[in-house]
Amino acid sequence: ETVVVQDLAQKMGKKVSEVIKQLMNLGVLATINQEIDAETATLVAAEFGIEVKVKDTKPVTELEDIPDDPELLKERPPVVTVMGHVDHGKTSLLDAIRQTNVTATEAGGITQHIGAYQVDVDGKKITFLDTPGHEAFTAMRARGAQITDIAVLVVAADDGVMPQTVEAINHAKAANVPIIVAINKIDKPNANPERVKQELTEHGLIPEEWGGDTICVNVSALKREGIDNLLEMILLVAEMAELKANPDRPARGVVIEAELDKGRGPVATMLVQKGTLKVGDYLVAGLTHGRVRAMMDHRGQRIKKAGPSVPVEVLGMSDVPEPGDIFQVVEDEKLARQIAENRKAEKREEELHKTARASLDELMKQMKDAQAKELNIIIKADVHGSVEALRQALEQVGTEEVRINIIHGGVGAITETDVMLAAASNAIIIGFNVRPDANARKAAEKEKIDVRLYRVIYEVIDDIKAAMSGLLEPEI
Ligand code: GDP
Repeated sequence: ETVVVQDLAQKMGKKVSEVIKQLMNLGVLATINQEIDAETATLVAAEFGIEVKVKDTKPVTELEDIPDDPELLKERPPVVTVMGHVDHGKTSLLDAIRQTNVTATEAGGITQHIGAYQVDVDGKKITFLDTPGHEAFTAMRARGAQITDIAVLVVAADDGVMPQTVEAINHAKAANVPIIVAINKIDKPNANPERVKQELTEHGLIPEEWGGDTICVNVSALKREGIDNLLEMILLVAEMAELKANPDRPARGVVIEAELDKGRGPVATMLVQKGTLKVGDYLVAGLTHGRVRAMMDHRGQRIKKAGPSVPVEVLGMSDVPEPGDIFQVVEDEKLARQIAENRKAEKREEELHKTARASLDELMKQMKDAQAKELNIIIKADVHGSVEALRQALEQVGTEEVRINIIHGGVGAITETDVMLAAASNAIIIGFNVRPDANARKAAEKEKIDVRLYRVIYEVIDDIKAAMSGLLEPEI
């Protein structure tokens, strides 16, 4: 916001020369036709004993998420993500759950893949996100969308805890999402569920029967065994979490998948988080807007409305939104279009002024301002011993003012998944004798994540210490 000196004088009923003089006193040399910023104008006016109100003309890009009256909240189904090491049976488990819960009328019908589905367990519903893996889960979080209420961690009973199992545990923990362990493939002759439990304890998941609070369920996705038990446990955990939402308000939620269909135009799978989405609603989703022309559930059946935790396929967007985009219903088309336009403009502006989201010194600055007390770090190293040595050394560097939080440590190159976890958790990445792979490098650039590479442990410690005392030179 700016104002021309002459106009300012006129508004205050003062002579231009007086205003220019006051400006000079403030160290600003201005002419009669010069524009001065709102801040300076406010200072000058204050000198004359006048209070200036700066008009807020910032274009609307954010839609306020108005909190609901607790009285209006009703129980909603849990939203579940299935995670775990590759080949441990995530996809098989999702298929098994879907198939065991297809009701008679639907049997033979085509269940189509829309990115999520709902099952019915004795009248209670559970929503499953159909894109297995912690990568998808964290990519969504990095975009600001927290949609998962419960993580099901699949561990193959014949293979045990593997590197991606540990990753999944850390991703779920970083998001504060409760974990239920599905010990899969118990039909195999060499299955050893007890060993799996033992290994889990090493990563902080203590089974209930051993006095901890982690629920473990034996299943066989292949033989469809233990599925009902798993679903029951999910409902149990959901009940304890008291998941609620107000169904009687304009809908808000998250885009799970989206694509351009040749015949139907942009098609987006959306998960309603609160409110009820209806055919005919106007909505904004990320940089796109539209009107719900038609909605389909996960069976491909047309529906007219969808309440909290219900995944739906939506036709009628102007463009293809991105997975992880928040959508919200607005009053009319004009507002929807306007907000989407404003966001596009804002994004272009941001691209011009790219700033690091999580460079080490940027994080330290944020901490100073916000009194935040945790520095999140991801460690990747060439050998397990180095990960542990760094973890211990760094945790000792932490002080009462700044706690150091190693949210994930692992062996191997820095991957795109590590970068997304850093983005979702506002963390930096420390690579010790390892480098980022090509995808990770691209992602780090896009997400503006600080990836720091070292070959000597004490240099890591020195840098973190220096950063903590605010002395660190920005790394180029
Ligand atoms: P994902 O990579 O975690 O999604 O794993 P998949 O679901 O693709 O399964 C990997 C392999 O394990 C496939 O060959 C499955 O048939 C097999 N598998 C999955 N669940 C079971 C199970 O309960 N028992 C046995 N014996 N094999 C299974």
